[in-house]
Amino acid sequence: MTVPFQSPGQLPAVWVLQAMPGPLTEALRQHGGVPNNVFRLVDQQLQYRTAVELRERIERRWYKLFSNLTGPELVQRGDQIAWDLLAPNDCSSPACEDGWLRDDSGSCPQCRKTSSVFHMTGEDHRDAPRANPSYAAQIVEANHDDLRRKYGTPRGGQSRHVVKHFVEYTPEPYTMREPEPDLPTEEQIERARRTERAHEVQRLAEERAKAEKAARAKQNRREGRS
Ligand SMILES: [Zn+2]
Repeated sequence: MTVPFQSPGQLPAVWVLQAMPGPLTEALRQHGGVPNNVFRLVDQQLQYRTAVELRERIERRWYKLFSNLTGPELVQRGDQIAWDLLAPNDCSSPACEDGWLRDDSGSCPQCRKTSSVFHMTGEDHRDAPRANPSYAAQIVEANHDDLRRKYGTPRGGQSRHVVKHFVEYTPEPYTMREPEPDLPTEEQIERARRTERAHEVQRLAEERAKAEKAARAKQNRREGRS
């Protein structure tokens, strides 16, 4: 913000209160100006903050919390808003100014613990510009890469990160191999040979029996007994 010239001898509290936004100052005027308790509050806060910090506090909170209010709302709530623009925040850390550290080194570890924190190694920090949008963008991109590596690539517009669904590995049911046919033993081969020979012997014997029977019949016919 632009810091107007503070005239010599001007009370710091007065200079701080000159940073009150125009619409609010206008609303307060209808009630007789800035309430006395707000003056005392500024004096008290000046023990812990510089006048510049208090002016920045007014501006920051106004645009964050109240700048959207209408004129009548400002008239109705003016005193309370003036107080809220300057009251100390709830954080117990003396270095904390509305969640940010006064030395601009980052968010307050006391009251903004749950906010996003970039986990950077000491190496990342070295030579790194403290508050540089392109550097922050690099870190964000690196974090996204990390998420993509862990959870997969987004595949639709539905969600930023599609979690890979890991399917449990189920092995195929175990099947026994068909048993190898047993090779015939020498003994089995010999037995088969013997069986075969027996069959051959049988066949030849039957053939011979038939031939003898036919020869007898022929003999009988010749002897005229038929
Ligand atoms: Zn804090």
